[in-house]
Amino acid sequence: MKKISIVIPAHNEEGNVSLIRQRIADVFSKLELYTYEIIFVNDGSRDNTQRKLEELAAKFDEVKYIEFSRNFGHQPAVKAGMDCSNGNAVISMDADLQHPPELIPEMIKRWEEGFDIVYTVRTYPKQISAFKRKTSDFYYKFLASISDVNLSEGGGSDFRLMDASVVDVVRNMNESDIFLRGLSNWMGFKQTGIHFLAGERASGESSYNLKKMMKFAFTGITAFSVKPLYLAAYLGFLFSAFAIVGYGIYVIHSFWAKTEISGWASLIMTVVFFGGIQLIILGIIGIYLGKIFKQVKERPNYIIRSKNF
Ligand code: UDP
Ligand code: MG
Repeated sequence: MKKISIVIPAHNEEGNVSLIRQRIADVFSKLELYTYEIIFVNDGSRDNTQRKLEELAAKFDEVKYIEFSRNFGHQPAVKAGMDCSNGNAVISMDADLQHPPELIPEMIKRWEEGFDIVYTVRTYPKQISAFKRKTSDFYYKFLASISDVNLSEGGGSDFRLMDASVVDVVRNMNESDIFLRGLSNWMGFKQTGIHFLAGERASGESSYNLKKMMKFAFTGITAFSVKPLYLAAYLGFLFSAFAIVGYGIYVIHSFWAKTEISGWASLIMTVVFFGGIQLIILGIIGIYLGKIFKQVKERPNYIIRSKNF
């Protein structure tokens, strides 16, 4: 029998872990040819998630848990679950039931047809704000245009099946600030996607606020593209050309008019404008420098406090 490992990161999901285990158990009761394990990764929850997980693990053999020493973030949590899994395929999904377990049989079917990665494309329910939809669409299009990672067709979902051979590749990647959505697209292999309608969170609140989403967005771009670093060079050329033309015009003008051009305000605005551009570019260089700094320290992506297997 083939084994499916299901990896579920959980950050403050006390109300959901039991629900999702039940839904998954229901799905697998109809899939006689497969065994499964559920690896919950408790990513520094401040509620009773850990106690709930220990209770579940005591009751059900297929429930396993990994407890982080603190909150490391969703992507490291998924990575940790993959690192510790030993199934023939690994499925990652959210704990909040926005990723319907009922899609699992279809994912397994595609995998059996020979696909190494089965990703999912989320179609949004009406409740999700147009703002979130539009910004997410724009972001993935932008990322596709400046890197060789194309997630514009709904790659923004971490509900995904990977064959054990792919998981092996992921396991051996030790880049800091891991961005699995991009990596799984970047790796290649044989991939296929299926559509699903994202539901509402079963209980609790989303851990992703605007600040975290911005950080996530920057992580994605800087993990797969160095194009932002070229911005300085491009702007440099542009403004140099500007300055040369402007200087020419000034010289000619002063010959004819025989007066100085006055203009304190325009001068100050120009100085401030270029000061701003320089700081932005310094900031971009800083972001990459920070990544190199993190990487050379070779700190792990996560630290495990306890686990039951
Ligand atoms: N999550 C996590 N660590 C975090 C934030 C979130 O492990 O720091 C988990 C969370 O428990 C859930 C999944 O990642 O299973 C997706 O998070 P959430 O539902 O808050 O994000 P959204 O669906 O709003 O994008
Ligand atoms: Mg969610």
